Amino acid sequence: MKQKISINPPPRDRACECCGRKDMKPFGKAGDPLVGDFDGALLVKSFRSMHPKDEKLDREVKEIKDWDKLFEENPKKADRLSGYDQLVNSVSASWECRDCMILNEEDYFKKMKVVHLSYLKNKGEKV
Ligand SMILES: [Zn+2]
Repeated sequence: MKQKISINPPPRDRACECCGRKDMKPFGKAGDPLVGDFDGALLVKSFRSMHPKDEKLDREVKEIKDWDKLFEENPKKADRLSGYDQLVNSVSASWECRDCMILNEEDYFKKMKVVHLSYLKNKGEKV
């Protein structure tokens, strides 16, 4: 028997991982101006960097010649910059609705930030 292995399965709650919507209509059917054949999909898997690019942080990371020395002399800065460097260079799968899958990186993170802030507020957490 063949087993189907899914490395990045869609989210269990079937919600868009960017905007959190669940009430999507299937898209990509005939007549949909979207390029690509999505054949009535609700969510599409995109691969996104895990952190928005930040020119200032990029410059700081580039200037570091000796990470070991930085970790000794300024562990907080080293943590912050190495964390940024790892995330911005990591790509993860993101299941997104039709509205979110076409966003560029900047808009994607903006939208996601708004969604997460309202989610936290709804849970009564301090943001
Ligand atoms: Zn979405």
